[in-house]
Amino acid sequence: MQALRKSRPGSGLGLEPVSALPAPAAGEVLMRVENVGICGSDVHAYEWTDGYGFMEPHLPVTMGHEFAGHVVATGPGVEMQPGQRVAVMPGIPCGTCAACRRGEPRGCTNRRTVGLTVDGGFASHVRVPAANCIALPDNVDTEVGALAEPLAVGCEGVLTAGVGLGDTVLVMGPGTIGQALALMARFAGAARVIVSGRADAPRFEVLRALGFCDLVDVAEAPLRDQVLALNNGLPVDAVLEATGIPSTVNEGLSVLRKDGVLVAVGIHASSLTLPLTDFVRMRHQLRASHGAARRTWDRVLALLSRDPEAFRPMITHRLPLERGVEGFELARQRAASKVMLQP
Ligand SMILES: [Zn+2]
Ligand SMILES: [Zn+2]
Repeated sequence: MQALRKSRPGSGLGLEPVSALPAPAAGEVLMRVENVGICGSDVHAYEWTDGYGFMEPHLPVTMGHEFAGHVVATGPGVEMQPGQRVAVMPGIPCGTCAACRRGEPRGCTNRRTVGLTVDGGFASHVRVPAANCIALPDNVDTEVGALAEPLAVGCEGVLTAGVGLGDTVLVMGPGTIGQALALMARFAGAARVIVSGRADAPRFEVLRALGFCDLVDVAEAPLRDQVLALNNGLPVDAVLEATGIPSTVNEGLSVLRKDGVLVAVGIHASSLTLPLTDFVRMRHQLRASHGAARRTWDRVLALLSRDPEAFRPMITHRLPLERGVEGFELARQRAASKVMLQP
């Protein structure tokens, strides 16, 4: 089969032949991948920006961690039946470290990640632990099902912020994770969700299709002026950052109320300079969110099942796997929102 692989450190990734996968081992399933999204972090790894060196010892690796498909074969001890449609949680806990033994797999210190350190979904088939598979509800197809991963990341960010009924929330960054944060903030009861971006017309278009109209283009006027104008001159209750640009954290804090929470979700290639006096006097709470708990995935699948079509506008491009590199270029140039590859 063909797979989109990262073979060496440095920029790039390419379609390479790989031999057919062996039968699944105990506790594993062999999956037919039907839809796999190109994620912002895949683009970072493609460009080899700072923060992805952890992949180096694991190369070559088939990338792709946002995928859904169906089970074609199961290893010993797996109860799931062939034909079962599933989405895949990418984090594989080691099962033996202190955190895993305590029953806290998210705290695993020896965690592997499907599509970053072990072979992932940019291929027709992939072997994954059965424990990482979550059954898709009957009315959720594998295209919408492949959005479960970024939606879970957004859901976890909103839970981390503690967004509540009637809150005003600023989401910084209009990409897929920003869209997921905005959707989940709305589900959590936010009365107003403002989304900011910089000259991001294609992704603002997606946000409008998802029902968000309070959009702020910081290329036109300063963020603070626009946010205050939209919110009756008041600061916001929570800021959810998905830009990956450290200085946007300071901009976000400039419109956050006292005791408000800012959650950083973006992956940042450089450091933040934080004016600590203002930070302390405002009693601002800076938190981080990364990945998602199993319980969060269950919440997301329940929401997907309620109205799958409400999420489909997030997908702007569909390409066969053979045109994967083209998909990466579209995502990199921000001409696309979610690019879905269909192996
Ligand atoms: Zn992702
Ligand atoms: Zn562990």
